[in-house]
Amino acid sequence: MSTEYRCSQKWEVFMSEIIRVLSGIRATGKLHFGNFLGAVQNFVKYQEKEGTICLYFIADLHTLTTLDDPEELRKNLIEIVKDYLASGLDPERSIIYTQSSVPEIPELCIYLSMLQPLGELQTIPTFKELIRKFPERVSLGLITYPVLMAADILGPKSFLVPVGEDQVPNVELARDIAKRFNNRYGETFPVPNMMQDMVRVPGLDGQKMGKSESDNAIDINMPLEEIRARYLKKGVTDKNRIRASDPGDPYNGCKSVYSVHELVSEGEIETRKIANACLAAAIGCAQCKDVLVENIGKLLIPFQERRRELAGKDGYVREILHEGGKKARALISETVSEVREKMGIVIY
Ligand code: AMP
Repeated sequence: MSTEYRCSQKWEVFMSEIIRVLSGIRATGKLHFGNFLGAVQNFVKYQEKEGTICLYFIADLHTLTTLDDPEELRKNLIEIVKDYLASGLDPERSIIYTQSSVPEIPELCIYLSMLQPLGELQTIPTFKELIRKFPERVSLGLITYPVLMAADILGPKSFLVPVGEDQVPNVELARDIAKRFNNRYGETFPVPNMMQDMVRVPGLDGQKMGKSESDNAIDINMPLEEIRARYLKKGVTDKNRIRASDPGDPYNGCKSVYSVHELVSEGEIETRKIANACLAAAIGCAQCKDVLVENIGKLLIPFQERRRELAGKDGYVREILHEGGKKARALISETVSEVREKMGIVIY
């Protein structure tokens, strides 16, 4: 995987400095394969790079925009941290915390909101998608969501934000806010970057895989046989390929299978083999889905084994969050003191 940034410089240029990497996930439900490939795998990758401080949080405040079941929120949060750990995040090397354990984040959100025109927030694609999905939940919290996300990112002065492709508009907004702040109050925030190779993992119906669309999602803790059954039953392939002897169109027609092959098969040659076999009608859709599920298994089976070992360890997870919260708060409150001072806020 390339380590170049989408927006600017190459990794090597910054190796002389400590780079802060930050990302988070909402506790709206179980993690799916899109979260795993688009986000968590990259979290682990950056944790393993020298010269980074990685901060990975659970966005419990963001979760409140669409979830109002307190029990579910508390449960999802602990389960997601277990997913983080089973994926390879190490609390000795990454700071793992909940957004709400740093009250300076919502405070920073208020300051940054003074630099954010309202109209722009209403045109952000993620906002439009959320009002389409949850028309009954258009709250002030939903509209200010990207500003809170900017506070998440700028609070620790993050340099890199590994997210899936759907989050580009939100990170762009954080970049704009950072620039506006720096222009108005003097150099304060690094302008955060995104990865060069962000992905968008399709769900079984070919649309973006999402937690709220449990019908199109692959839960990362699902047994492989269930994943296979779901792909066989619901995975959308080329609708013009009626018989196995008809050539298929993997690039344009296969909405939920071929594009996942591109993400999980071992290298380009393997992916091309699948595409050529489909184009030549040398492989049927069911067989192609079998190959896909085998490759998904190579990623998920080791993860699921580690995850089972964490089953009864809620106390351990709480300890990690407690320690992570203290570390994150120490970093972020430094930035917020600087922001207060630059904006003229004095706490008497
Ligand atoms: P969310 O579940 O919306 O809180 O997203 C958490 C992270 O997973 C973000 O970085 C998203 O961009 C990423 N993500 C969510 N769904 C997908 C998907 N279908 N493909 C790639 N990344 C995704």
